[in-house]
Amino acid sequence: MTVTVSDVLTPPASGDHRIDSLIYQDNGFWMDWNAWGAVNDTTVIDFCFELDGTTANDWGLALTGAAEFTAAQRDDAIDALAEMTKVTGIQFRQVTDPTQAEIKFIYAELDNVAPGMSGYTTTTYNYRSSGNRVTSYDLGAHIVLDPTIQGAADPEKGTAAFQILLHEVGHAIGLCHPFSAPTPLPAREDNTQKTLMSYTWKGGNKSAFRNYDRLALRYIYGADGLGGQGAVNYDASARMMADTPQPGLDRLTGLSAGLLG
Ligand SMILES: [Zn+2]
Repeated sequence: MTVTVSDVLTPPASGDHRIDSLIYQDNGFWMDWNAWGAVNDTTVIDFCFELDGTTANDWGLALTGAAEFTAAQRDDAIDALAEMTKVTGIQFRQVTDPTQAEIKFIYAELDNVAPGMSGYTTTTYNYRSSGNRVTSYDLGAHIVLDPTIQGAADPEKGTAAFQILLHEVGHAIGLCHPFSAPTPLPAREDNTQKTLMSYTWKGGNKSAFRNYDRLALRYIYGADGLGGQGAVNYDASARMMADTPQPGLDRLTGLSAGLLG
């Protein structure tokens, strides 16, 4: 599969507001792990638990009190990733070397970064293209869990902290807030009964992605993981036709980072 510049910059609108409110260009791009997998010839996203906040600070986060996830927190984070696998089929692999991981978890106080926030995700992208063809594409996400949220010490299913972990994993895989979208969800639908990407909590703590989340994630990835069939990025018919090659033009983007609470 040829990955084009428009693949990595512009999510394809579905025409369904439940999906388009969660998938849109944010900070000039979106997280297209299908395209990342195609460019890097892999179907697995590596993650790690960082020993301290060093890498996060490299990304411009002034974290305080940064600490490695405890054994309990690691198990819960893995459970959150498993919920993403249930919906998309995406496979995650734990590694110990942060330089080998696309997704990194760290436990730290967010007071200096986003006061009042319980969780935080930074996303980074870096791509290089020749003409309209993407020749290298790196994605990364750094997930921070703050101690103040209920259940943060052991964010198991049923706690508010587990719901926060799902929200942050949602960001890492490509979902945005429905209230910031160019076509935001109507107020009556912008709640956690519909999507965990909402800031409006409704009902009890959630331990699984909600219907709108599942619709959006299936729209991007299908259910069979990266590189599978059924994901919109592998529906070549419409997308390839829309891409106009620009021979002779090389483009290099710098590292960009998005900050999402
Ligand atoms: Zn968020």
